[in-house]
Amino acid sequence: MNQATPHESNGKIFAPDFLNHPLFLNAAQGLDEAAQLMNIDSNIINRLKVPRKCISVAVPVRMDDRSVKVYMGYRVQYNATLGPYKGGVRYHQNVDLGEVAGLAALMTFKNSVLGLPYGGAKGGITIDPRVLSRTEKQNLTRRYTSEIAPFIGPTKDIPAPDVGTDAQTMAWMMDTYSQEQGGFTQPGVVTGKPVEIGGTLGRVGATGLGVIFTTERAFETQGRKISGSSIAIQGFGNVGSHAALCAFERGAKVIAVSDVDGGIFNGDGLNIPQLKLHFETQKTLKGFPGAKEITNEELLFLPVDALLPCALDGVIDEKNAHNIKAKIIVEGANGPVTINATKILHRMGVFVAPDIIANGGGVIVSYFEWVQDIMSFFWEEDDINDKLKSIIIKAFDTTYKTAHEKKVDMRSAAMGVAIKRLEKAMLLRGLYPR
Ligand code: GLU
Repeated sequence: MNQATPHESNGKIFAPDFLNHPLFLNAAQGLDEAAQLMNIDSNIINRLKVPRKCISVAVPVRMDDRSVKVYMGYRVQYNATLGPYKGGVRYHQNVDLGEVAGLAALMTFKNSVLGLPYGGAKGGITIDPRVLSRTEKQNLTRRYTSEIAPFIGPTKDIPAPDVGTDAQTMAWMMDTYSQEQGGFTQPGVVTGKPVEIGGTLGRVGATGLGVIFTTERAFETQGRKISGSSIAIQGFGNVGSHAALCAFERGAKVIAVSDVDGGIFNGDGLNIPQLKLHFETQKTLKGFPGAKEITNEELLFLPVDALLPCALDGVIDEKNAHNIKAKIIVEGANGPVTINATKILHRMGVFVAPDIIANGGGVIVSYFEWVQDIMSFFWEEDDINDKLKSIIIKAFDTTYKTAHEKKVDMRSAAMGVAIKRLEKAMLLRGLYPR
């Protein structure tokens, strides 16, 4: 497939240019394959192949030197059949409308396969947040929130953190939205907030913990355990660092980790609590005692039991998939392994646990946060982690069963389960107007 979602509308082929983004094309390919696998109504697939609403906003920001810079911001509301729109906000220099649309499609499939009462959305601003001061980041966040405020809300669309954003960003978003609603606090408008202002226990580490629940289950399918296994992790941000810690606590040997500046390796296993301290104080992985430096490429091709790509999309594609030596890949990031690479890996006997299940811990605990905000009644962390585990394992096991029945890889099966649930709901709701 080389053109985005072509289908006829008034006799013309309809395929907006921005949808030719690789991440979106990958999602569209997934839809086509799921349609075949599960025999999905073609009207439903056509509707699922384009985002329902794309919001593009200019975000002017007063910089510390009093100059004004203008950044581009987006919010793509992909599908709302199963509930309010839901998905993170990304600050990254590569963000564009096509990427946000691809990520919003992935959120739609993720929320569906996990059985959450949400549609899918994503937001983003084209900016490298590391070049901004705290004040500039706050100005950027508040103006972006104000621009998209008419389209979000606790029952409409609920943003959350993603790459380059965090709990502080959500605090500013929640405050800006609330001020614009007459000053009445509306905690349910975003999730991933600090606990002091209506956030939930367990949200910060939730994605990493979910990645490790998925990794444990993947090992179990091969009659093995995570303890004593060797693991390499790409990315040491919120997802990668928490996954590393959870793996370490379960007795795995985390032999390599990396971030944008490169990686480190120790064949006997890295001491992750000490490495986290080192990273917090030194702001780099480099120079960690007893570890040797490796490149991000080298990390991907290490002969490990499990490889956890927890950074950005498209790092394993059809060109480099053959070099993978890991037996299990668990996608902590969104879209790190392309569909075509997944197929090659499947033939090579590599088990790929797909992103829409593996990194679902974040949005699952976001869901718990939203429910707690609505009830104004807050739960214990153990409770939250137990509920997180049961939702992820249920989605994994349903998908695993489907993969066996249909004789396909886990990504195809997960997409199949997700699209089937969406199809049923869309057919029940019908098309307005008829
Ligand atoms: N950004 C996370 C994701 O990609 C979390 C989204 C959310 O909590 O709404 O799944």
